Amino acid sequence: MSITDTAFQECINPDCGAEFDCGQALFKCPKCGELLDARYNWDRIEVPGKLSDFAARWANRSNRLDFSGVWRFRELLNFCEDKYKVTIGEGQTILQQNDAVAQYVDMKPGCLYLQYEGLNPSGSFKDNGMAAAFSHAKMVGVKSCACASTGNTSASVALYAHSCGMKCTVFIGSGRIAFGKLSQSMDYGAQTIQIRGDFDDCMRQVQDVCTKLGLYLLNSLNPFRLEGQKAIMYRIIEGLGWEVPDWIVVPGGNLGNSSAFGKAFYELKQLGLIERIPRMAIINATGADTLTDLVNSKKLAWNNGRVNQAIIDDYYADLTARNFSPHTCASAIEISRPVNLKKCLRSIDICNGVVRAVTDDEIRDAKAIIGKHGLGCEPASAATIAGLRHLRAEGIIGADERVACVLTGHALKDPNVTVNYHKQKQGKFSNPPVEAPNDLDEIIKLIR
Ligand SMILES: *Cc1c(COP(=O)(O)O)cnc(C)c1O
Ligand SMILES: [Zn+2]
Repeated sequence: MSITDTAFQECINPDCGAEFDCGQALFKCPKCGELLDARYNWDRIEVPGKLSDFAARWANRSNRLDFSGVWRFRELLNFCEDKYKVTIGEGQTILQQNDAVAQYVDMKPGCLYLQYEGLNPSGSFKDNGMAAAFSHAKMVGVKSCACASTGNTSASVALYAHSCGMKCTVFIGSGRIAFGKLSQSMDYGAQTIQIRGDFDDCMRQVQDVCTKLGLYLLNSLNPFRLEGQKAIMYRIIEGLGWEVPDWIVVPGGNLGNSSAFGKAFYELKQLGLIERIPRMAIINATGADTLTDLVNSKKLAWNNGRVNQAIIDDYYADLTARNFSPHTCASAIEISRPVNLKKCLRSIDICNGVVRAVTDDEIRDAKAIIGKHGLGCEPASAATIAGLRHLRAEGIIGADERVACVLTGHALKDPNVTVNYHKQKQGKFSNPPVEAPNDLDEIIKLIR
């Protein structure tokens, strides 16, 4: 095994600050139990002088690393040698300017952009993270891996595991997974274990299973996965002609994305590659709104890394006492104990972030609008547009600010929510099918 001297792992707890080399698969600080970050010795990395220098890689797309929408930014996540880098062509995504959706949220034409991550190989943004995490797994010689999942992590893990020749086991909550996603993990050959419980139960179990059996964990506790997800922000900047937007809007589930995005901007600023950091809005569903509650009501904050743990402990003790299980039609964010909570608080601090929760009805309506006028997406992704609508109404986001919403997953991931919305006329934008007799004249009368 060869470990580069360009990167290391560091505990996010400033009172601990323990450091480890990248040759270890840890997932939590062995000294204090907190989350770990991937950190870089930037002076040992040849980072391009300006972001637009990365554009030169487009001309070299026969090189698999230059083709990858993650690895073409490889100097910014330089934790392993090229020979370990895994890619199946992730990150060929687009940033779509969308005036019809802008109108729905009361924004001026030309201001709203949708970063469509549904174009990834497994149909969600998770592939960005897996390209990086599986590269780390290869570097440390992993044979078997596992994850807990609301669906998209398992689909992505299953796909990457087989392309790397690794065994994988995925844990999903019984009845809590969208059909498209379940079909993927089975089709891609993962061992799929349905636990009688919700995502948070799966998350607890998988950590113990991984520790006991020495499996490599691919949830967003894995710091290298989050390194890959930084690339979503690089591509938004790329899509804006190497300019930074005013706002990033992202759904909040386990809070890996929001954590990764804040870190990405912090590093770009530190490297002098951007001049200002955009603000961030993180959107929960009201049925799974731990972050919103903790930040807006309980005033939980990063506080230079000294997060008030008692507030979190009390909150979770209350969830347990009430036997609370989160519920939302946006199954990808149906999580009540987000593992990256503290890193997300750090991102809120870095990006002067705000947090909101939106109802399932708002999510379904927003999803129909995105479907009708854009590229379509799954419910969790549509939470961004529903949340943006709130923030516009409150005047927190201006009508002429430049906003990029991350549409995290493909529309076909969750056909049930879509079909029910339209067939059962659940919302303002339902477009139900029309019943017709098998008769030409009658059919012609129905065409509008
Ligand atoms: C995983 C996922 C989320 C939640 O992202 P976090 O990084 O866990 O907050 C949102 N939307 C989709 C489609 C997902 O697959
Ligand atoms: Zn520590």
